Amino acid sequence: STVIEVRKLAKHFGDTCALANIDLDVKQGEMLGLLGPSGSGKSTLLRHLNGLVRADKNSKSSIKTLGNDVQINGKFSRSVRTSRSQTGYIFQQHNLVSRLSVLQNVLIGALSSTPKWRSLSGNFTTLQKSKALQALDKVGLKQFAKQRVSTLSGGQQQRVAIARALMQDSKLILADEPIASLDPEASRTVMELLRSINKELGIAVVVTLHQVEFALEYCPRIVALKDGEIYFDGPSHDLNQSK
Ligand code: ADP
Ligand code: ADP
Repeated sequence: STVIEVRKLAKHFGDTCALANIDLDVKQGEMLGLLGPSGSGKSTLLRHLNGLVRADKNSKSSIKTLGNDVQINGKFSRSVRTSRSQTGYIFQQHNLVSRLSVLQNVLIGALSSTPKWRSLSGNFTTLQKSKALQALDKVGLKQFAKQRVSTLSGGQQQRVAIARALMQDSKLILADEPIASLDPEASRTVMELLRSINKELGIAVVVTLHQVEFALEYCPRIVALKDGEIYFDGPSHDLNQSK
């Protein structure tokens, strides 16, 4: 089945055309690398998918994720919240709450709305806690559960963000430059983790990257953007040959 369906997506910021007439389909179980130089529109495209940005009002655009409408013709649909809650979103600056523990940060993934931080300690069920520990085990950080997030390295924090996405039972993970601020070794660990989640759990992953080598190594399919347009969409080995 299709987890992402984008039609005629266009986005301007003032006079800047960030995205022009984008069509994109992603199927369940795919791992797609979104490549392109800085300013080519990768981040803007990803943000549209999660309803963080609205398409041009006068466009005949539509975006669906996991079977729910996210936006149509530049208007958010009623189901945008459902769609968002079923999608794991990972940011470059991982968006964790640094003064909370690793476990608490993962548990945030179990909440459907923005939590009140102060009430975060006792409000989770035993089942949710064991699920969060399982997610931490999956990313190899179970032994850090009780530690403050701020004591972890950048790569470890990114893995906490992945555990939080797993907590949502999502069938789709969108990751915006998750390795941009990591050293090569930590980058590898994070990419391998995304790949194993994709393979073992069948979760579709769309990851924006600016390093071609990482995309070629980890993403079977690549979509490359330039000036807001898709100029390549296909298997990564074809991109390699066209270089
Ligand atoms: P990438 O992620 O590939 O680096 P972006 O999607 O961030 O590219 O940006 C695409 C274009 O849109 C760039 O020209 C950028 O300056 C512009 N842009 C992105 N977000 C905004 C915004 N909120 N306001 C104005 N311009 C923006
Ligand atoms: P990235 O490309 O990695 O997403 P950016 O630094 O381009 O990061 O963008 C960070 C934030 O600034 C985003 O919210 C984006 O929408 C916004 N932004 C990007 N370009 C511009 C711009 N030219 N004018 C205003 N806001 C921008």
